[in-house]
Amino acid sequence: MLPVLFLDVDGPLIPFGAVGARSAPATGGGNPLLSRLDPAHGTWLAALPCELVWATTWMDDANEVVALRLGLPRLPVVDFPDEDPPGRVHWKTPGLVAFAAGRPFAWLDDEIGAADRDWVAAHHPAPALLHAVDARHGLTRADVDAVAAWLGSLSP
Ligand SMILES: [Mg+2]
Repeated sequence: MLPVLFLDVDGPLIPFGAVGARSAPATGGGNPLLSRLDPAHGTWLAALPCELVWATTWMDDANEVVALRLGLPRLPVVDFPDEDPPGRVHWKTPGLVAFAAGRPFAWLDDEIGAADRDWVAAHHPAPALLHAVDARHGLTRADVDAVAAWLGSLSP
């Protein structure tokens, strides 16, 4: 089975930083944040040898509005447990480990911390790459290259 790549939307695919005067506000009642989506991200991600999975509060709206604009197909969506994990562990982390079910996984998110790495190391038996993306800039080619290199390092 292919490794999983969990994708956050807010931060990595919709950067929070000012994107400059060239970014015109959306018209016609659309969500202005969607103008920050970069179709190149979809091209980069689709080329990776892994299964792309949404890991975002957008839930299935990621398929309805984000995937289309990135040129991605409908993707699976992680359903997160209601209860929060202990300490500084991100509320997404246990749900991702459960979804991966022992498969190697990478995770692109702007809110990854040391507690998440520790929790995954203790609860996930396979390799994992928790790669923090800078939400000011969003996903960069260097981020995707890091994931590609990690995927390439996995034994078949
Ligand atoms: Mg985020």
